[in-house]
Amino acid sequence: MSDKRFVYADNAATTSVHPEVLAEMIPYLSEFYGNPSSLYSKGQVVKERLDSARERIAAILGCDAREIYFTSCGSESDNWAIKGAVEAYLAKNKTDKCHVITTKIEHHAVLNTCKALEKKGIDVTYLPVDKYGRVSPEDVEKNLRDDTAIVAIMYANNEIGTIEPIEEIAKVLEGKKTLFFTDAVQAVGHIPVDVKKLGVDMLSLSGHKFRAPKGVGALYIRKGVTIKNLVDGGGQENNKRGGTENIASIMGLAKALEIANEEMQDDNARLAVLRDDLIRRLSEIPESILTGHPTKRLPGTASFVFKYIEGESLLLMLDAEGISASTGSACSSKSLEPSHVLLSIGLPHEIAHGSLRLTLSHETTQEDVDYIVEKVTDVVKRLRAFSPICPKELK
Ligand SMILES: *Cc1c(COP(=O)(O)O)cnc(C)c1O
Repeated sequence: MSDKRFVYADNAATTSVHPEVLAEMIPYLSEFYGNPSSLYSKGQVVKERLDSARERIAAILGCDAREIYFTSCGSESDNWAIKGAVEAYLAKNKTDKCHVITTKIEHHAVLNTCKALEKKGIDVTYLPVDKYGRVSPEDVEKNLRDDTAIVAIMYANNEIGTIEPIEEIAKVLEGKKTLFFTDAVQAVGHIPVDVKKLGVDMLSLSGHKFRAPKGVGALYIRKGVTIKNLVDGGGQENNKRGGTENIASIMGLAKALEIANEEMQDDNARLAVLRDDLIRRLSEIPESILTGHPTKRLPGTASFVFKYIEGESLLLMLDAEGISASTGSACSSKSLEPSHVLLSIGLPHEIAHGSLRLTLSHETTQEDVDYIVEKVTDVVKRLRAFSPICPKELK
């Protein structure tokens, strides 16, 4: 038995703020407190910094600074892209009906936005995914209608780490007036993201998923695309998103993206080795199933289901061993319903309950992986020993 360690393996839920990101932010919480909308120099200097942050982010995403809009989080960006596109469509076409295509495995920020639109009479198609969680571009094509205002498909799934064929879907939509939006909150800062190469019209990101603070995000809106505002107010963000800019967090967002971009190649090579070791060794537990795509997955994500156990019990017992993990989604951890993602990849209810998501970071070491393997193997065995539904030969 190894000595107790503390292993944070829930980086898809949130990450720690990078020390250099914090250092970048502090002057904007003390010295540079001017309002960027003010005309005097104390405000103007902040305005310059704001513009530079926008440029630094645009340079990494491969777009123009004027195509980046700061928001309060990934959820706001998702809401804005979809509701804004639908409302713009309705106004332009003088109608109260239109169509949205999304998938069954989106984050709740997208799914519940679509549900809210359905209550207002908008048709929504929730595309199925294959057993690995991949959407088929042909399915997008088949379901397109003349009145499809927007297609919203995530870049990488937050529960199982599967990376979606965004470029291929963009090809299907090329030349059509339907907008293409991707929730790239799990992708930005983790895998290379170039908006032009992807061919999307809009893309959302969130700072706290890549070592910037919580409460800051952005939406890329391609030049020439017009959507309705979600937050009306002053003239901030080119009149498209009211609210005095969260300058400290925006500066942190730019810094975090630069660091992630610089370190991505090395980090990912190292992470993939640890992830694959974790996957190989946890797959040796009897009646365990890797969830998500075997190769087209985020570098730091290992996700499983173990038959005959409850994910919640597994989490609590791992927590007692010093391991922070997740059943898949922070948002569904308060409900007893199994994850919509795991049901969508075809797992039956009783099996989907036994899920575990481990998401690694720059900090994760081989010793951490060894410790996780030892503890998960042991805890699964202990839980199965008490399980009335677990066959005897597994106990
Ligand atoms: C975390 C997450 C969000 C929400 O971002 P917040 O900044 O926490 O609002 C949206 N989509 C995906 C895929 C996520 O992982």
